[in-house]
Amino acid sequence: MAQELTHFVAGKRLPGTSGRFGDVYNPNTGEVAAKVPLASVAEVDAAIADAEAAQIGWAATNPQKRARVLMKFLELVAGEMDSLAALLSSEHGKTIADAKGDIQRGLEVIEFCIAAPHLLKGEFTDSAGTGIDVYSMRQPLGVVAGITPFNFPAMIPLWKAGPALAAGNAFVLKPSERDPSVPLRLAELFLEAGLPAGVFNVINGDKEVVDALLNDDRIKAVGFVGSTPIAQYIYETAAKNGKRAQCFGGAKNHAIIMPDADLDDAADALVGAAYGSAGERCMALSVAVPVGEKTAEALREKLIERIGKLRIGTSDDPNADFGPLVGRDGVERVDRYINQGVEEGAELVVDGRGFALDGHEDGFFAGASLFDKVTTDMSIYREEIFGPVLVIARADDYEAALKLPHEHEYGNGVAIFTRDGDTARNFVNRINVGMVGVNVPIPVPIAYHTFGGWKRSGFGDLNQHGPDAFRFYTKTKTVTQRWPAGLREAATGEATDHFVIPTMS
Ligand code: NAD
Repeated sequence: MAQELTHFVAGKRLPGTSGRFGDVYNPNTGEVAAKVPLASVAEVDAAIADAEAAQIGWAATNPQKRARVLMKFLELVAGEMDSLAALLSSEHGKTIADAKGDIQRGLEVIEFCIAAPHLLKGEFTDSAGTGIDVYSMRQPLGVVAGITPFNFPAMIPLWKAGPALAAGNAFVLKPSERDPSVPLRLAELFLEAGLPAGVFNVINGDKEVVDALLNDDRIKAVGFVGSTPIAQYIYETAAKNGKRAQCFGGAKNHAIIMPDADLDDAADALVGAAYGSAGERCMALSVAVPVGEKTAEALREKLIERIGKLRIGTSDDPNADFGPLVGRDGVERVDRYINQGVEEGAELVVDGRGFALDGHEDGFFAGASLFDKVTTDMSIYREEIFGPVLVIARADDYEAALKLPHEHEYGNGVAIFTRDGDTARNFVNRINVGMVGVNVPIPVPIAYHTFGGWKRSGFGDLNQHGPDAFRFYTKTKTVTQRWPAGLREAATGEATDHFVIPTMS
């Protein structure tokens, strides 16, 4: 019998009352492991009301005390790393090592948020005019919402919630309905760490919940991560309703391999970055662009050799390179793209279709696939597959290679492999992509820098985590104050000579 999950509101696990449920699968077996309640508009409304009431006290708590709650939270999550990673892996299908990475990258942003007292400091100008000082302060927005994807069920909620909470907001999280158990546990750990009840809430659900959040005036900002069509919809709807929004979408990340690159190093990096986590990463490298025929032929051979050694296993297999996809729809999507690629004339060099893991025939597994001689008009080049498929799009020279990611509609991540500093600098300066790796396949920025794609990979003008996140989750108030000399003396008759600051002679 599948376990029935809950929401987390006002510091408690609350059973769903809408009567609607979604299935949460164990992707290793294909069985339904849990039922997740899909909230109604009334349930969302009640959660926002609780959050709004709790936010007032939280905003009045000084930033150092708020930071201490986050410090305690770090300790609690670190203490539960093994069980959280096992839970995450069992719903998502990524390996335990990848699940730990998912949690760890979330905690690194929480570590950064401990600097909230410093990050929230305003600016001050003394004597901007006679008796006039000007200062600014950063104040929380109120209640804010996070809508997050299935592929990083710990990291992305923490990237959103960490800065929002540290800045004094209350947070309503709508995690992916595919793997909601880790966010629910994180909510309990926030409470245990000392976060007042109602400041962090989890409302499970689908489009109905998202629309209720978008249409509610009490939600002041929306942080979204997911696919591009939904990112655009949420950005436009939030903006129409007067909310601040930052919405990050899909990707098609290219890796340029220059003729002077260390090809073994590049092939190792490509295999890890294309097939790791079954390709279900927004920063996965899905297009390899070798420059020149010789590079292309050599790289292709090295890739084939390495793909042959990849081990696909259940998510708890410590020797597996990657596990199953999150759902059967993912396997079907991958198969559909491979069929299309073949029809469109690409060369299918390694065919992962029809892969079955012994003893887990009903699990959501897909084998690793490799296409060569892919051109820009093909759907497997233009669209995000989000599975273990790498395509090779050959380029004759550096300019032709640069043009590919430059003209692609997505602009999340990109990498170049070269031994030449001039080429690397030229590439870094000219490419119109948000996150660039130089001999680094997955250039996810460290927590104190910021993360964000360009073009149709990101809607909104501020990035995730780092100082941008504190700008996003606060509004600036600027105060101009005038205290003319003699004001008090005129009112009270008391001499104010002692207030006069002696000037330096
Ligand atoms: P998704 O867009 O299907 O879902 C994301 C969230 O939106 C979920 O919470 C879901 O419930 C909600 N949602 C889905 N359909 C909706 C609708 N019609 N109206 C309103 N809300 C809706 O994405 P996913 O499959 O969970 O995640 C994979 C996608 O996320 C990939 O495209 C990947 O590239 C992207 N992603 C991007 C980044 C980034 O930082 N750019 C990071 C991780 C994942």
